[in-house]
Amino acid sequence: MFKPLLWKGKKACVLGLGKSGRAVASLLQAHGFDVLISEEAHIPAPVLEGIKIETGGHSPDVFACDFWIKSPGIFPKNPVLIEAKKRNIPVFSELEVAISFLPKTARIFAVTGTNGKTTTTALLGEILKADAAVSSSKRKVHVCGNIGSPVSMCADLVGEQDDVVIEVSSYQLEDSSYFRPNFACLLNVTPDHLDHHGGMKNYIKAKNKIFKYQRAQDTLVLNGADLVCAQAAEKAKSSVFAFSTHPKHLLKTDVFFDGDELIFSEGHHLYPPHLKGIHNVENAMAAALMALAAGVSAQVIQQVFEHFAPMEHRIEQFAYHRGVIYVNDSKATNLDSTITALKSFEPAHNVWLILGGRDKGASYEVLLPYLKGRCKHVLTIGECMDKIERELNGFEVVRCGTLETAVERAMKQAIRGDVVLLSPACASFDQFKDYEERGRIFKRLVDARIFKERVDK
Ligand code: ADP
Repeated sequence: MFKPLLWKGKKACVLGLGKSGRAVASLLQAHGFDVLISEEAHIPAPVLEGIKIETGGHSPDVFACDFWIKSPGIFPKNPVLIEAKKRNIPVFSELEVAISFLPKTARIFAVTGTNGKTTTTALLGEILKADAAVSSSKRKVHVCGNIGSPVSMCADLVGEQDDVVIEVSSYQLEDSSYFRPNFACLLNVTPDHLDHHGGMKNYIKAKNKIFKYQRAQDTLVLNGADLVCAQAAEKAKSSVFAFSTHPKHLLKTDVFFDGDELIFSEGHHLYPPHLKGIHNVENAMAAALMALAAGVSAQVIQQVFEHFAPMEHRIEQFAYHRGVIYVNDSKATNLDSTITALKSFEPAHNVWLILGGRDKGASYEVLLPYLKGRCKHVLTIGECMDKIERELNGFEVVRCGTLETAVERAMKQAIRGDVVLLSPACASFDQFKDYEERGRIFKRLVDARIFKERVDK
């Protein structure tokens, strides 16, 4: 566990000059620590007042530091980390260091899972903000972590009565030696980031850290139809609340969906938000269970559900042209989220699916049952086209290479009633800065062609 007082006056090394690395370095520096940021890549070093920065490799100075903070993106097997371990240098996560600076009375809400984290975090943040607005207290709600700013950036702004809602990734959890949220949520666990964690076992171990250090007075909300979540429920020391939209679930659930309303065992009935897909009903159930456990009224939750708008890059229907629907699901960076997107369309053999990018280690074969009957063609882009072609053997795959070519092919051939869906099941970093850039370029390419067709007419 990171304890600021225990480490006071010691030298900190932040490994990695990314957004969270810079934020945690500034936080530590503001609290009187001597900080060095060390970055492996050959990139220009920015000026951060009072902080030493080295780039283009790690100098021996890193080993002269008393403790390290590892940026989440760095591979756990990086030789410099192995060397730190040999030398018994404690390595912490940005998350746990930031949390250690929060007032002890602030409530921490943490959301993790393979898919649905951002949507659930955003929903919960809105609910808690609406609740704070109707209560007479001066309580503020800070929404941070993977959803936007690192926790380190907001840590010093958090007041004693405030709430902190954090989207937590498996990388941050893996690196944390201690993390105890008052309210935790484990949405689902399916294969993802297996290359980074070194297999499913380690991935599950990382995700389980969301509740590992919780105590009896804490709350854990989880998916009653997910095997890993069901196993988590057995281990948790906190009060467990389960949700499910499946008729077959592994745990007794505290809320179910009758096709129209969310029905809670405590008696509340709520209409879910106007978001596409049954997965979003699950996200709403999770946010509502956390909020109810935190004392928010059902009326406040219902008001937020009524006004919550769909989020960009998440099964986002952004264009309709000549009877064809265009959907941007660039946030689908793993197979399970692509399956979710496919399932949200009726099986009618009319989806043109743009798939590919940087591979994450799992097999594309699992897509086959969802493609059959739903999909006309798969259009491949990016680094892992060969692997996709091999593993979707027997299905109609069109090799496109770039998003531009894929859009061109799909738009030329799609007919009334079809859906053109970007849901790549892969990371974006081979061809784009991030999934947001990939999504925006996709929308721009489609919009530009629609515009051109209208002008040419
Ligand atoms: P995350 O932050 O975990 O990546 P998002 O809320 O950004 O999750 O959603 C990303 C994509 O994951 C969505 O476009 C959808 O395809 C899929 N998804 C979202 N919620 C769920 C869920 N509860 N179960 C399965 N898939 C989901």
